[in-house]
Amino acid sequence: MVHGRQAPSEGPVGTSVTSPEHRRPGGLLGRVNVTADIDPCLVETIGCFFGEDFRDTRFFQVVPEGLLYRWLRLFCGNALAVTWVRDVYIMPGGVDYSDYAETCTPWHTDTIAHELYHVAQFRRARLVQWVLDWLRDLRKYGRDHMYERPVEVEAESAAANFRASPEYAWLRCERGCEE
Ligand SMILES: [Zn+2]
Repeated sequence: MVHGRQAPSEGPVGTSVTSPEHRRPGGLLGRVNVTADIDPCLVETIGCFFGEDFRDTRFFQVVPEGLLYRWLRLFCGNALAVTWVRDVYIMPGGVDYSDYAETCTPWHTDTIAHELYHVAQFRRARLVQWVLDWLRDLRKYGRDHMYERPVEVEAESAAANFRASPEYAWLRCERGCEE
């Protein structure tokens, strides 16, 4: 659920969130659907690598200081992205998805792959059991150390494996990434 690492910097977030024409950006919850802004080829390639279909996965940008933002800060501490069932919530500063060329950056790819692995974990788990495990681990590790949970270590390792894969090398080639 929680992507618990610190960002290397507070990078820019999707511009649609802060555009002035949105009087109340993100509606009541404070989230904007940015699924179309995430490189679909990256999502598909990660899906092939994990043996999963992520076409129904949605990505949301969490609006700073919105209701959802405050909940996630309360329950997930310093997380930069949080996955809940099939939805990935990107916290402010979490991922810059403004350009598909971001697919070339390890930070971006790691985060997307890590969170998509959590979507796969949710598919395998029973929801009630998942919540009970999360509560148990919250007591054990503490809110800001949830990245030490076994499910987090597994997701981290899966993302690293993807980044070392020929599938990712092919995608980098397609995107014209530099070595
Ligand atoms: Zn995680």
